[in-house]
Amino acid sequence: MTNDTQSPEMIDGFHLVIDALKLNGIDTIFGVPGIPITDLTRMAQAEGMRVISFRHEQHAGNAAAAAGFLTQKPGIALTVSAPGFLNGLTALTNATTNCFPMILISGSSEREIVDLQQGDYEEMDQLAIAKPLCKAAFRVLHAEDIGVGVARAIRAALSGRPGGVYLDLPAKLFAQTMEAGAGKASLIKVVDPAPRQIPAPDSVQRALDLLKGAKRPLILLGKGAAYAQADADIRALVETSGIPYLPMSMAKGLLPDTHGQSASAARSYVLAEADVVLLVGARLNWLLSHGKGKTWGGPNAATRQFIQIDIAPTEIDSNVAIAAPLIGDIGSCVSALVAGMGSNWAKPPADWTGAIYERRDKNLAKMAATLALSPSPMNFHSALNVIRNVVKARPDAIVVNEGANTLDFARSIVDMYEPRKRLDVGTWGIMGIGMGFSIAAAVVTGKPVIAIEGDSAFGFSGMEVETICRYNLPVCVIVFNNNGIYRGIDVNPTGGADVAPTVFVKNARYDKMMEAFGGVGAHATTPQELQSALDEAIRSGKPTLINAVIDETAGTESGRITSLNPTSAAKKK
Ligand code: ADP
Ligand code: MG
Repeated sequence: MTNDTQSPEMIDGFHLVIDALKLNGIDTIFGVPGIPITDLTRMAQAEGMRVISFRHEQHAGNAAAAAGFLTQKPGIALTVSAPGFLNGLTALTNATTNCFPMILISGSSEREIVDLQQGDYEEMDQLAIAKPLCKAAFRVLHAEDIGVGVARAIRAALSGRPGGVYLDLPAKLFAQTMEAGAGKASLIKVVDPAPRQIPAPDSVQRALDLLKGAKRPLILLGKGAAYAQADADIRALVETSGIPYLPMSMAKGLLPDTHGQSASAARSYVLAEADVVLLVGARLNWLLSHGKGKTWGGPNAATRQFIQIDIAPTEIDSNVAIAAPLIGDIGSCVSALVAGMGSNWAKPPADWTGAIYERRDKNLAKMAATLALSPSPMNFHSALNVIRNVVKARPDAIVVNEGANTLDFARSIVDMYEPRKRLDVGTWGIMGIGMGFSIAAAVVTGKPVIAIEGDSAFGFSGMEVETICRYNLPVCVIVFNNNGIYRGIDVNPTGGADVAPTVFVKNARYDKMMEAFGGVGAHATTPQELQSALDEAIRSGKPTLINAVIDETAGTESGRITSLNPTSAAKKK
């Protein structure tokens, strides 16, 4: 029975935002409630979305970024205006730098007041500030445009090179209402947000010709290859071609690090000696010494040629000339190469592969000898050896890693066996991703998470252990506690009362922080203690923090990037 005088059912801006996200398969929000988005978090939860509340927006943003990397759906971070927005912005920009898809949604003040700079509560022209720092930025002023705004944000985050998108939602928008039927009809379900991009056939042929002529070929896998979820194609490329490969840190596990063609333990040799290098979703940025200089030295520097697979055409030639660009999505490009190789593809010369594997095995034997030592106090090696064995037994666990020495050593010591199981400091080498990435990894995968944290790195996001406890997540944080930044042994040269800038409180008990919120704390001074605490954490799935006491004299300034310090750089000149 219809009743013409009955007022039509209405829908408000809050629910249009929630419905637009849900329509696009987005079921989780990472955020920090506050004016004007508190009710949005409540209503989203009431509508069945998972809402993970953080203690600081930067970590909610980092969680959204990691969720985006792991799922190929944009992670959603939600913040209040001005200061909350700015706190989230670091994560948004970092996600864009890493090519991870995420959307930062921030509430904002009314345009009328912001544009006249009349001094609203938390007034800021957020859209203008976000624009140069992310991939795309949009603002929605009218309820009927929410569907378009969310659709544009999703497509911008996922299409082409993935990245961070800012979506500005003024407070007034949430309370706007429209007729429910029209509201529903205004929402857009995004069709094929990251369409396959098939490489041009002549570019495939050019790459194959180059590879065919190579005497010392090398494949370099980057985190773009991990993101692409083209795992079987990548394995086929490596195994069909017979070419040794080197994974960048977040590409570790795309093939197990124990794979016979891994050149990881002969990294400097292959970079210096390779004559044709195939880059798969890896940029020739600082992490690869820009493709030139000493790292890429040796007799082939002048004649070396690069093939680069990337979805972003403008990435090509960014640092050195690329002889054979291959533009498209990794799955399409790699499968085209494999198809072109056919079944009789000649494997690379045995003198090249033999020399690599001989060096690698020698280095691995040396490493095994170091790992077998058990000094007291523990050093990075003896502690990481424990984690290395645990990850070997639980290859589905996700490893999050940040720090300086803790990062460098863990990257080379802890082997990975499955794709997208390693999340780390990424392209910027940023500190502070630890707890945000760990929370996202636990939330979106349900797998155990092992966060390998330098004591300094942990401090950037440490308060989020409360969040880990509140949601009862299977995260085991291991703090490599050597009493300071890089090391704990610097002294104040003036003899004054202040400690040196790099030194923390000695013998701090980070494990007590986890206990404060009901999680499990453990204090480990030996590999055996570390082992049993970590085993128990994985077995129980309880939030755990292990304070791993590391020799305070272990570690070097800035880990392996000492040369980037201005004083060392000046000395080198
Ligand atoms: P790493 O730090 O591991 O070397 P980078 O972040 O430097 O990796 O490089 C990742 C590259 O992968 C970026 O240039 C990005 O454009 C590219 N990329 C991301 N996703 C895809 C995809 N689906 N297909 C092709 N290239 C991609
Ligand atoms: Mg330290």
